[in-house]
Parts: sequence; C-alpha cells; structure tokens
Amino acid sequence: MDIILGIDLGTTNSVASVVINGEIQLIKKNGEAILPSVVGLDEAGNLLVGRAARNQAVLAPERTIKSIKRKMGVAATVSLGDQEYTPQEISAMILRRLKEHAEEQLGQPVSKAVITVPAFFNEIQREATREAGELAGLEVVRIINEPTAASLTYEAKAEHLERLLVYDLGGGTFDVSVVQMEQGIVEVLASHGDTKLGGDDFDDLLLDHVADAFQKKHDIDLRLSLIAKSRLLRSCEDAKIALSTEPFATIELEFIAEKDGHPLHLVREIERAEYEELIEALISKTLVCVDESLSDAKLQAPQIDKVILVGGSSRTPLVQRLLEERLQQPLHTEVDPDLSVAMGAAVQGALIAGVDVGPILVDITPHTLGIQALGYHDGLYNEFMFAPIISRLSALPANKSEMFSTASDGQKAVIIAVYQGENSDIRRNEKVGEFKLEGLADVEAGNEILVRFHLNQDGILKVTVMERATGLEKQLTIDNAMEKFRQKNRDAARSRIDAAFNVEPASAQISTKPILVKPTKLAKGIVPAELQRDVDEAYELLLTAQKLIPEATPEDAAELLSLTGRLEKVLAVPTAETLKTATAELEDLVFYLQDA
Ligand code: AMP
Repeated sequence: MDIILGIDLGTTNSVASVVINGEIQLIKKNGEAILPSVVGLDEAGNLLVGRAARNQAVLAPERTIKSIKRKMGVAATVSLGDQEYTPQEISAMILRRLKEHAEEQLGQPVSKAVITVPAFFNEIQREATREAGELAGLEVVRIINEPTAASLTYEAKAEHLERLLVYDLGGGTFDVSVVQMEQGIVEVLASHGDTKLGGDDFDDLLLDHVADAFQKKHDIDLRLSLIAKSRLLRSCEDAKIALSTEPFATIELEFIAEKDGHPLHLVREIERAEYEELIEALISKTLVCVDESLSDAKLQAPQIDKVILVGGSSRTPLVQRLLEERLQQPLHTEVDPDLSVAMGAAVQGALIAGVDVGPILVDITPHTLGIQALGYHDGLYNEFMFAPIISRLSALPANKSEMFSTASDGQKAVIIAVYQGENSDIRRNEKVGEFKLEGLADVEAGNEILVRFHLNQDGILKVTVMERATGLEKQLTIDNAMEKFRQKNRDAARSRIDAAFNVEPASAQISTKPILVKPTKLAKGIVPAELQRDVDEAYELLLTAQKLIPEATPEDAAELLSLTGRLEKVLAVPTAETLKTATAELEDLVFYLQDA
C-alpha cells in the first residue's frame, strides 16, 4: 500500500507524519519529532542537518544555513563551505533527512509526500518547494496550504460547513487564515501575516532587555561577544518558554564576561508580566492581521466555528489571552501546535491514497481547573472568584503555575480550594479538593504564593503551593479530578456548593482568607494613592457587610444590599467625599447587626 508522508517544511522547524492503519503517526528520531530546518557543515566538512547544525549557528555562521524557506523561489544561491547551493537544494537536504527518518521508523521505502507551504506562497515558491521534494527523492503528490493542513487535523471529516480561523505564530513568521470546509472541500477564504514576526523576535527583545540591564550595571555590552550573545540568546529562549507555564523564570549564566580580571556572572529573574510588557506591541500587530483576515473573509468573529492555534509561539499565554479576548471564544490547542500542520498533511496524504482516517485521539482537559481567589473587579472585592490555572481543551499532560499573594498583613495561612468549571464564580463550579498551607512568614499583605498544577494523562492532578520567599511548600494529589466532574450531576453539585458556602460560619472564612489574585497591581492602577487606605477600609467593610446578608432578617438584608450596592458603585470611581458618605451609613448598620 502507498505510504504518503505528510511534511511541514517550516522556516524554523520541520516535521513529518504519516497515517498507518487509520492512525496518525509522527516520524521521530531519538524520540524527537521536530527537526530544526538548519543545514550546516561541521569543522571537518561533514553535513549537519537539524539540531547539530542549529547548535553551531551562532558560532559558525559561515558554515550554517538557517531559514532557507524565506529564499524559496528566489533566483539566488547560498554558500556552504566552498559550494554554492540553490534554496531548493538546501530544502532538499532537510526533506531527505525526514525521508530517511521515516524509512528507518517504518522499515520500508517511502517515495511520496504531501508538503505544506504558507497560504501566501506564490506559484514560483510552490514550484520551488515541489522541486525540493523531487531533489530529495520524493514524488510530491500535492502541495497544500499550512492552514488547510492544520484545519484537516481538527476537522478531517467536516460534513457541514465549518469555518476555522488558524492563527499560526512560529519562530520567524506569523500567518492568520480563515478556512472554510464543507464535504471534503477546503478553501482558504483570507490570509494575512507578517513574514518577519515570530518567537525569534520575542527572544531578541528579552535579550536586549537583559543585556541593557547588564550593560548599565557593568558597562559591558554582552552583544559584542559572539559567544556571550549566543549563550544569552539560548537562555532567553529557555526563559521565554518557561514563562509560558511559570510566572517567573531565571536567566543564570556563569562567567559570561570579565572585568578588571574578575569573572562576571549574570543572574536575572524575569517576571511574566515584565516579559509580557516587552512583547505586547508585537502581539497587537498580529491581532490587526486577525481583524483584516476576518474583514477580507466578510465574517464576524462569532461566525467562526473554531479557532486553532499553530506554531510554537502560540503557546505564549499573552497571545492566547489577547486572542481569546478579541475573538470572544475558546481557542483550540488540543493538538500540539508544533505538530498539527504535519499531521494534517498526513491526513491529506491518506485521503489522496483513499485511506480512511480515524478521529485524532488526544487527551484533553474537558474543563478548566483553577482555585478560589479573592479578586478585585469592577470596583468590588469578590471572594468567590475563580482563578483559572489550566484552561479547558489543554492537551495532557498539562503543567501550569500562577502567582498569587496573601490578602492581609501577617496572614499565616492560605487555603487552596481547587475547582473545575467554566464560571468565573467558584460557586457555579465543582470543588475537587482543598488544603491549607500554614506557617507563612509574618509579613505584610502581598506575600507571594506560587500555585502549580500538574495534570497527567490519567487525570491525576497534583497541586503544589509554595511560599516564594521561604520555599515552604505543600502538595495535594487529587485522583481522577476529571472523572469526578463528568460523573456528577452539575446542578446538584451547584446547589450543594451554594448551600455549603451559605452555611459556612463567617468567622471560619475570615480566619484563613483565600489568597488574593494580582492584588495591589490592579487596585493601585485604579485607586489614587492618597485614597488607598480609605478604599482598603471600605473593602473590608464591604466584605463584612456582604457576609452578614445571609443571616440577616429580610428587612436588614434589603438595607444591606442597598447600601453595599451603593458602596460598590462608589468604589468603582472613588473620591474622598463619596467614600465618606457611602461608608458612614453602612458602618452604622454593620455595627448594629454585629452587636445584635
Ligand atoms: P515553530 O516555527 O512553529 O516551530 O515555532 C518555534 C518558535 O516557538 C520558537 O521561537 C520557539 O522558541 C517558540 N516556542 C516553542 N515552545 C514555546 C513555548 N512553550 N512558549 C513560547 N514559545 C515557544
């Protein structure tokens, strides 16, 4: 039977995949599916393709060729050692390596392939890609668009009209396409992008940020030394990737430079928020392309059935947050964004060979997992806020951490109550576990608490909570967190939780407050500094008052509701005057009720 290899020939990385017995298989070498699209010669003149070539790129640029895809279709040559090669020839070396890996894995010759290209590639570039395949000894049975391939991975058998938006942010390029599928016919309705925007730019921005600070401190520009720059760049990329799952990352490079005969070390902690500030403008640029492609396709965001993320950089949380906000719908990340184009190319290959492709099985989280937190939103504190940590439709295993901080001065403990669901109010979600971390340092509010979730393929959720300053840590393992949710009747669960919260004595809730989400930052942005103290007191009063409502008589409850409502409005845009009026009456009522 014909085996047709699906190949994603990328600017930064390439991947191959194949459908065997109706199932998609990735081609791997030493357990690794991704082959960096880099070709080089080592010192002895031997050909290097992939990781080895990539590793020497900064140190031996004259012997290394990166991003050859950008030159496809251009009548120019590149030199490698003492030879000149066309872009097709360099691409052919990458393709040939993938073919060899496939033959090794499958134990049989492979001679046919479907290769993907960006939707914006013109005929000359497509032809050059076909030629590269042929030079590698592959019959290119079809060239397909990358967004089409990604869509096929998610929707191989769309019977009804489906419209997908494919957001592809890789290492060096960005594309967004609107794709329409109906009964096997796939059409790219619109496509926009920026061929010079990607994760490499994020690395560069972080590198400049760190190098500038180092220069300011030591008066040494690390960018001037090839070796220092190359080490720093690699650490910046590692830190960037870590920041996709961790709230902070540390760049640590020993002996990075020398001053007055003494070695200098670089140790720099980067907060996610600090990194996000650096890259936000670039991400905004991609959102403009999203708007343009929707407008070209004459569609509004709600008419899109599925939003698919492709490319390694689409794992960046800020990308996901801003895109989700813009499109007002959940994003699909079930299939690894680095692999989905190659997998879709394999699906296309199977369809051409007349082979049925079964559904793609990926383990995903059906619901968002997070914790209870004290939030500040629209001018009011909400102690029932759900702070998501692992979002729904994430592929398993999933690892994610977020930073929280304590709500009050001298707070000795935090309760970590774990919930599952999609509502921003925990009372509408399902509680899957709870534990307490005690013995926190006696410090002011704002003590940083790291919460880490690790959900494995079997649905076992490991929650770790750590006081950042001291390393004090505690763990909770919740077996079968996902099953719990599926099996239970949600409505029954909801009322049970509601009831549980209403009957809980107020004192028990105050003794160990839930932790405050991104607290001072949000509050300080809105509240004028001179009012901060009054505002904090007003919130304390508001919380106390809200807790009295369930136990109050109907008349008192109505009065409490009216006065707390007024205070909430005032807190949205507080002034000294309005705060004073709004708190005075409520304070009296609270004192009266507490005394009673
Ligand atoms: P691609 O061209 O699709 O293979 O994407 C490669 C780019 O994705 C590189 O810039 C990587 O540094 C970046 N990347 C890979 N994994 C992550 C991650 N978890 N978070 C952010 N960027 C990533």
